[in-house]
Amino acid sequence: MGREWRNWSGSLRFTPREYAMPESEDAVRALVERARQTSTKLRPVGSGHSSSPLVRTDDVLVSLAALPRTLHRHDDLQLATVGAGVPLGELGKSLYEAGLAMDNLGDVDVQSIAGATATGTHGTGLRFGNLSTQVAGVRLVTGTGEVLEISGSQNPDLLPAARLSLGVLGVVTTLTLRLAPSYDLRRRSWCSSIAWTLDHLHQLQRQNRNMDFYWYPRTDTTQIRTLNHRGEEPELTPVGEPRIAEYGPSHQAIPRHRELRFEEIEYSIPSEAFHACFTEIRRRILDRHRRGVAWRVLVRTVAADDIWLSPEYGRTSTTIACLQNNSLPYREYFADVEAVFRQHDGRPHWGKKHSLTARALRGIYPRWDSFEDVRRRLDPDEVFLTPDLARLLRDG
Ligand SMILES: Cc1cc2nc3c(=O)[nH]c(=O)nc-3n(C[C@H](O)[C@H](O)[C@H](O)COP(=O)(O)OP(=O)(O)OC[C@H]3O[C@@H](n4cnc5c(N)ncnc54)[C@H](O)[C@@H]3O)c2cc1C
Repeated sequence: MGREWRNWSGSLRFTPREYAMPESEDAVRALVERARQTSTKLRPVGSGHSSSPLVRTDDVLVSLAALPRTLHRHDDLQLATVGAGVPLGELGKSLYEAGLAMDNLGDVDVQSIAGATATGTHGTGLRFGNLSTQVAGVRLVTGTGEVLEISGSQNPDLLPAARLSLGVLGVVTTLTLRLAPSYDLRRRSWCSSIAWTLDHLHQLQRQNRNMDFYWYPRTDTTQIRTLNHRGEEPELTPVGEPRIAEYGPSHQAIPRHRELRFEEIEYSIPSEAFHACFTEIRRRILDRHRRGVAWRVLVRTVAADDIWLSPEYGRTSTTIACLQNNSLPYREYFADVEAVFRQHDGRPHWGKKHSLTARALRGIYPRWDSFEDVRRRLDPDEVFLTPDLARLLRDG
């Protein structure tokens, strides 16, 4: 019997029969082939920061952390191929040394690059898509044990599925990323009122490279956070001096450190529906949950893309995330806000808490069936399809 595995927040616990850390792609193939022959399941895992049951299995959990992490820079200076298991922080450092950087990052840098892109992890900024949009190609071991290269020139028809695949098309061993020349950013942060923040939101979003805000239900105040290149500061800033002002390379300036553990539900809303949705979320939290909600709500923006399972597929989006300290109850609170997100055409973050299964998801993802066709093709024996994923992708 294996050891109990826990995700970062502690809400997902299970005991896989085996926890494998292959050191080569051949070893990954052998694991997949064995699973196929024995009709057992296999789930690839990154840093365990998702809290939806994407990686839960009784059988084999496979970490790519021991695979080579070397960075291969292509002749086309904007492209580099990296090992799937490399954590974003380590990746940022080696990219910086090579004069490169991710266009954008999320709030922390501890996820693996394969795990972050498999769920559409995103940061904020009107001009930036989620991290999956930076994936130009992947190399994966499919459910048949075949090694497949997918890029703009090799099997390009599979690319819109493979850039964000929830780990159900295969075990990704390397990813090729489209990158930017390295850059530095200045981070600033101000306390403000919710009324001022909402009144000026469009200007703040347009004038800053990256802008997001936390709303604190207990005090009904906000923290506005911005990131900009030096010399490209916005005309509009909140009243008063910034609480934080730091300057540094993008891979250090964008992510934060998180000590306190939390649970989270986050939905991506079409930006035109944001104000109505946020107004209702705020009203509900103030009326029903303020006493129990110890923490905060985070609002960010993400550019539209064309990745079939991306929450931002085909629409400029504003994301609303409700966070709850992981030692406090969250189910009733999350169910209540989820109903509002759904009324506003929201799509859930794949790696965070949500209650949707294929029945509802099919209706909100226009290319759902195209993804399912690719999944059936690359994993005909359902090596990667655990009961949780069967519910998520085809209702059982
Ligand atoms: C503190 C914290 C902060 C966060 N901040 C943000 C944020 O700012 N923005 C945001 O959008 N999200 C955020 N998230 C969510 C997080 O980015 C996602 O859940 C992400 O998927 C976690 O990456 P991971 O490496 O831990 O992958 P895991 O959670 O371990 O796995 C996620 C998915 O990736 C698949 N996978 C992993 N490796 C491979 C591989 N080699 N091949 C194929 N599939 C693979 C797994 O099967 C699974 O489906 C945050 C989560 C936490 C806990």
